[in-house]
Amino acid sequence: MQTITTITELRHALAESRKTDRCVGFVPTMGYLHDGHLALLRESRIRCHVTVASIFVNPTQFGPTEDLSTYPRDFLRDETLCSAAGVDILFTPDAGEIYPAHFTTFVEPGELARPLCGAFRPGQFRGVATVVCKLFNIMQPDFAFFGQKDFQQCAVVRSMSADLDFPIEIVTVPTVREPDGLAMSSRNKYLTSDERKRALAISRALFTAEAAFRAGEREAKRLTDTARRHLTELDQLQYLELVDPDSLEPATSPLGRRTVLCVAAYIGSTRLIDNVILT
Ligand code: AMP
Repeated sequence: MQTITTITELRHALAESRKTDRCVGFVPTMGYLHDGHLALLRESRIRCHVTVASIFVNPTQFGPTEDLSTYPRDFLRDETLCSAAGVDILFTPDAGEIYPAHFTTFVEPGELARPLCGAFRPGQFRGVATVVCKLFNIMQPDFAFFGQKDFQQCAVVRSMSADLDFPIEIVTVPTVREPDGLAMSSRNKYLTSDERKRALAISRALFTAEAAFRAGEREAKRLTDTARRHLTELDQLQYLELVDPDSLEPATSPLGRRTVLCVAAYIGSTRLIDNVILT
């Protein structure tokens, strides 16, 4: 595995792969890797000849009062995990490499960035769309892999990639969970043991609604009420919404063939998100 920190060096390394027509897969991350990230890497290794992973804690997607400076980092562990996972190139630029002093251009996502997390973290998806667009330009991969856990991020990236004509297949990989159901997240590290126990309410709420949907419930309000009953122990529920998976607009009753139930909540000072696709 090559670890590369500059755009010039990365382009040079990938030019070699392109000469031999090898398919390139890209997995963007903010590091502090867990099994969710490793599932994305595995999927890239299955589909592509060359897998590039990036670790970049993107400053433009954090709000002024958010956890940019405290976001968990462990580069040496991540490097070992990437190497063991069969990553060919690990790209770890510093902030100045991606956003040099003269940087002024941003990608403004449209309607998909407005509801759900967009309503609570203004600017987050502008930062995500900008950095993913830049990384797509730098790498020009054939495939890029994103996790379903960040459902709205997948929708925004898919739409940005189509709107800006990137010839890249965007693949969404199902959410990887801890054995007890909690969705894996780098931010789970922030949880105290009491918070870790209370955080389980999120997946429990989603699974209960999913079971009700499977049993035939198609009324949106009854499904969200069923889920909400599990969420009373959370410190702040930001949203619990059933939305259309393509438009992210509120789902109407009776629910159609595919709906996503999305949740964001604080446990202590840690903000967690999760979702299930009801189908
Ligand atoms: P992050 O490092 O949190 O920015 O995540 C990098 C990528 O990993 C994103 O595409 C996430 O959606 C994905 N990811 C994070 N957690 C999980 C998970 N539990 N299961 C699957 N993918 C995940």
